[in-house]
Amino acid sequence: MPKRLLQKITGLIKGKKSATVQRREIPRGDHHFPEEDIGRNVISVLDTLTRAGYEAYLVGGSIRDGLIGMHPKDFDVATSATPEEIRAQFRNCRLIGRRFRLAHVRFGRDIIEVATFRAAHHTMTEEDVDQSHQSDEGMLLRDNVFGTLDEDAIRRDFTANALYYRHTDGAVLDFVNGYEDIRRKTLRLIGNPEQRYREDPVRMLRAVRFAAKLGFTIEPATAEPIKRLSDLLGLIPPARLFEEIQKLFLSGHAEAVWPLLTRYDLARWLFPLSVPENNNAPGAQAMIGLALRNTDLRIHNGKGVTPYFLLAVLLWGPLQKLWREYCDEGIPPTPALQKAIQQVIHDQSRHVAIPKRFSLPMREIWELQSRLDQRSAKRCEQLVQQPRFRAAYDLLLLREESGETEAGLGEWWTAYQQADAAEREQMCQQLGQKPARKRRRYNNRRKGARPAPPQ
Ligand code: ATP
Ligand code: MG
Repeated sequence: MPKRLLQKITGLIKGKKSATVQRREIPRGDHHFPEEDIGRNVISVLDTLTRAGYEAYLVGGSIRDGLIGMHPKDFDVATSATPEEIRAQFRNCRLIGRRFRLAHVRFGRDIIEVATFRAAHHTMTEEDVDQSHQSDEGMLLRDNVFGTLDEDAIRRDFTANALYYRHTDGAVLDFVNGYEDIRRKTLRLIGNPEQRYREDPVRMLRAVRFAAKLGFTIEPATAEPIKRLSDLLGLIPPARLFEEIQKLFLSGHAEAVWPLLTRYDLARWLFPLSVPENNNAPGAQAMIGLALRNTDLRIHNGKGVTPYFLLAVLLWGPLQKLWREYCDEGIPPTPALQKAIQQVIHDQSRHVAIPKRFSLPMREIWELQSRLDQRSAKRCEQLVQQPRFRAAYDLLLLREESGETEAGLGEWWTAYQQADAAEREQMCQQLGQKPARKRRRYNNRRKGARPAPPQ
């Protein structure tokens, strides 16, 4: 083993034990956690583990949400049983994860996540060394050092996320003053904030996500290091950041998330092309705001949402800018657009990975924008049949609403979709009689099929 690593490990083992934590129990009658929301399968997991002699609690977001009157979802279980011991108790159980090993207990489509109590890494014994792994920057690459209930509490991220519900008597257990913080709507990191962000920079994104979702204030000591440390997000694999982005933008609070991400300089890392400093064409930021609001509305109304539409909006301004630059260099509009699309997706993916299944539809709805302006009867019929037509039409509406482009075309397409076949034909014919929309002329070989270059 290299000497430096050995020194580091010895240092960690000799490190001081965690400070004694204060335990508080809030009895069933003194809190308002909605027990009736706990599903049958979750109760069965808790019962099985308890009967086998292990400690088992509900923990995390579901307890936090339940205590503030929201309907909790995704109940997570924390237990004293090791992953192998958990697996031995259930027929349909799979162990997953390397960085953070845990058990999935499956009941049909319902999956209950069961995690073994973890300890902070300075409490580990020599046998634990293999299970703990830290980068030179202090980031936890593996977090599999098991511990006791109170140790588990203090290695969680925020105090509001570290409350445990004991189903045998309905008490809530608190080791970090989380109950009081929830009452005061305060988001507070447990321990030294800078060290905790260095261990896992994603906690900075989680701070913003929970502040937006819960309407909590990030208390000053927790907020202070974020701007300074935002570049640490560069250490996180782009694929993990994509997961986080989805949670940030597709959980019903996206409109509140974006200003927080920009305020704390996190957007500068995640979406460098889209932040106000680099994306300041008239309407560009307004369009992002509108798209985020619409996404939240769709979620609140139980409608489906997809990340590619939002990504297409976030990158629309940067795409226009680059397209214009390529056109100004003398590249004809169609190849210039293709080149700009490729470049924008490439640049963005260095920060947050965009899987192909999302980058392809993004590309399609961008390309469709210019085709929405070419309205012969035949073309219109082909367009509405396109799988991405609806998303492309939604993007057009946003462009008009934010003032990026002249209004009128969106309304026409709204009417077209509501019209019957004869009316549609008539609508297209009428267009032929009107003077064509003003458009800058570019030299382009394939007349008719050319995209309108950026204004
Ligand atoms: P929600 O499910 O509403 O997004 P959550 O708080 O349940 O929020 P999860 O990602 O499901 O978030 O994590 C469950 C719990 O695990 C958290 O409440 C927290 O206690 C702990 N946790 C999750 N991620 C981290 C992390 N990066 N660092 C420390 N603790 C974490
Ligand atoms: Mg959760």
